Amino acid sequence: MTMSWGSVISNGRARTLGTGDACAICPGPSNQPPLPHLQGALAGNYLLSLTYSDNLLRLRPRRDTAGVVLWRWDDQSCMIGTAVIGGMLVSEAVSDNSPERRSRMDLNYSPEEEAFRDEVRVWLRENLPDDLRDKVVNYRELSKADLLRWHQILAKKGWVAPDWPIEWDGTNWTVVQRYIFEEECGAAGCPPLMSFGLRMCAPVLLRFGTPEQKQRFLPRIYHGEDFWCQGYSEPGSGSDLASLQTRAVRDGDDYVVTGQKIWTTLAHYADWIFCLVRTDPNRPKRQEGISFLLIDMRSPGISVRPITLMDGGHEVNAVFFDDVRVPLENRVHEENDGWTVAKYLLGYERMGTGRIGASKRELARLKELAAKTIKDGKSLLDDPRFRDRITRVEVELMALEITNLRYLDQLRGGRAPGAEVSLLKIKGTEIQQAISELMMQTAGPLAQLFRPMDPEADFDAFTASLAPRYLNMRKTTIYAGSNEIQRNIIAKATLGL
Ligand SMILES: Cc1cc2nc3c(=O)[nH]c(=O)nc-3n(C[C@H](O)[C@H](O)[C@H](O)COP(=O)(O)OP(=O)(O)OC[C@H]3O[C@@H](n4cnc5c(N)ncnc54)[C@H](O)[C@@H]3O)c2cc1C
Repeated sequence: MTMSWGSVISNGRARTLGTGDACAICPGPSNQPPLPHLQGALAGNYLLSLTYSDNLLRLRPRRDTAGVVLWRWDDQSCMIGTAVIGGMLVSEAVSDNSPERRSRMDLNYSPEEEAFRDEVRVWLRENLPDDLRDKVVNYRELSKADLLRWHQILAKKGWVAPDWPIEWDGTNWTVVQRYIFEEECGAAGCPPLMSFGLRMCAPVLLRFGTPEQKQRFLPRIYHGEDFWCQGYSEPGSGSDLASLQTRAVRDGDDYVVTGQKIWTTLAHYADWIFCLVRTDPNRPKRQEGISFLLIDMRSPGISVRPITLMDGGHEVNAVFFDDVRVPLENRVHEENDGWTVAKYLLGYERMGTGRIGASKRELARLKELAAKTIKDGKSLLDDPRFRDRITRVEVELMALEITNLRYLDQLRGGRAPGAEVSLLKIKGTEIQQAISELMMQTAGPLAQLFRPMDPEADFDAFTASLAPRYLNMRKTTIYAGSNEIQRNIIAKATLGL
């Protein structure tokens, strides 16, 4: 059996390492994990040293080895890690060779999963409209109609809500199939799905909603009939969400809501908003007096004001509530226990931030552009410093993908995701930002312009999109819980600090 267990990036090119690679250090103490098969090729050709102790593998790449990503050795055991960049850094990777882990872990796709990938790829090739793909890959703004069109194409196929239960028209796909689908959509250049309804409100309704609420809202979310937005953040209450002050006071069969939400993405498109509101300001713990309401955006007393971001676009808003009446039946879960709902939803929000397929597509395009860009008589890809930067991102992306597969394997085995979702968010968004920076560097001074000033100039619409894109991508490390907050979560929940 030919088996690959890692990749080495050397001189700007990735090479997959397999069982055919020479093994130089085979004999090893029998109480160590089966490192030798891996050690051989790496130590001989790419690494200065590779040592193992205390369940940690230490890798020291040679200077001309830009990166090493390892995911497998022997036939069962696994090690995930990235040894990085130009021989300057040594990274450490945890290995776990316990019999339990050996019998469970498998990061390769099965033949059925590969067949599924082919099916999705072919379907996307045939059904993704060219004009939508063109907008996505060239970083052009998508209108509400664009977003809805793609949503409805997928809904018709039955693929718009893969993770919903089958009785609500979910696909019954495994976690791996869902990941493959997302990756293929990203790679193909599909527009994003409207996650506020599909991946935030719906999971909450499925978990906490009454039968009436499910029946009323879920089919409309599925078919793209209601556009949702998220009313969590307020001025002064972002990371410190529990300090929120928007009030909801009972009056007969309604709540009367007063206050302000901010940074509300696409509220100007939305039919509905799910909101965290304070229903009891006198509880000793701030988290205890909060409730989760579904509010019709056409209700009298709601006003939406645009906020223009530094890329010049209108994506977010301030939403004001001035004595807005909301029926009690629109509260999800118990009064004053909305924090439980809020936290449940945040886990789902962070699941979707890695965007690995899209980053792979953008990285491929970046390499194409860099190869065509000539500087001082040679391609930018031949510039060692630039190549080093691209390779660094590529290594990080490969490591993220493998890490993601590892979590998928845990999910496949029935283990719920925990704080590791935060790791995917941090790395995924850092990579997205890094790609946008390298795109700017590739375009050089022309990337400073927001739009072509001179139609005759050596300048195209894609180059014009790079500066707004670069600026827009700053948001990714802020929204869905800033990356600093994600690091706090990892520190507490995973490292126990
Ligand atoms: C483009 C965009 C779209 C958004 N869309 C929505 C939306 O649709 N709905 C919604 O409800 N919200 C939305 N948000 C809001 C987003 O969730 C908040 O911006 C985010 O939670 C950060 O809160 P804040 O802006 O109040 O910053 P703050 O919480 O004031 O943080 C400021 C800085 O301090 C750091 N910081 C804060 N606390 C800590 C700590 N304990 N430890 C270490 N560092 C800390 C933060 O990381 C950040 O760098 C959006 C934001 C952006 C930028």
